[in-house]
Amino acid sequence: MAYLKENKEKPEKIGILGGTFDPIHYGHLVIAQWAKEEFSLDKVLFVPAGTPPHKLHKEVLMGKHRYRMTTLATNTNPNFKVSSMEMNRLGPSYTIDTIKDLRKEYGKDTFLYFITGADSVLDFYTWKDYEELIKSCYFIAATREGYDVEKFNQRIEEIHELFGHRIFKMDIPDLDISSTNLRKRINQGKSVKYLLPETVEQYIIENKLYKDLKG
Ligand code: ATP
Repeated sequence: MAYLKENKEKPEKIGILGGTFDPIHYGHLVIAQWAKEEFSLDKVLFVPAGTPPHKLHKEVLMGKHRYRMTTLATNTNPNFKVSSMEMNRLGPSYTIDTIKDLRKEYGKDTFLYFITGADSVLDFYTWKDYEELIKSCYFIAATREGYDVEKFNQRIEEIHELFGHRIFKMDIPDLDISSTNLRKRINQGKSVKYLLPETVEQYIIENKLYKDLKG
């Protein structure tokens, strides 16, 4: 009985994977699954960006399609959920606003872990209100194929020195997959089989996505 009570009172640990998911691929799913296991997260929330601030100059597929592909990719995993919170917000989708909204929803005791890849960590100082952000949640920083490991480690060290141990490095198997590369392949009429879930591949084919996109 005592054990049950103790367990019930344990604060929840929630991972948040923000991204454009244009389209979602196995790189995203692997970092979410690794984070879930390594950090004993109760669930991982996938949050497709409405208007991604780092990609304002680029052509990004309509939110509705990116949201549906994210749902198709995650709905066989009971620990994965998709949130439309950024889609429902007007203007650029800043992580700080998402974390503030999640904090309101889950309360102060819940552990929030924002999951990112190495490229996003290297961009960290360009994120809106990054000082407030790093104090508002923990970060899980995944290694990523093609990014300078030394610079990545240095950045994590630097953030530790500035803000304490609020960011954790996570080694994942190198998967040289990016949405950019997938869009390019589809645009060139090449296959993306085995790089993303079959349900997502099917959705892309049925809706003739990425046929006319440039970037
Ligand atoms: P694009 O190529 O369009 O920039 P992307 O493949 O980087 O897209 P995003 O939706 O921008 O995908 O990524 C969301 C998060 O997932 C980011 O923090 C990114 O670093 C991380 N991520 C994406 N692919 C990988 C991968 N193969 N390995 C590790 N992290 C990844």
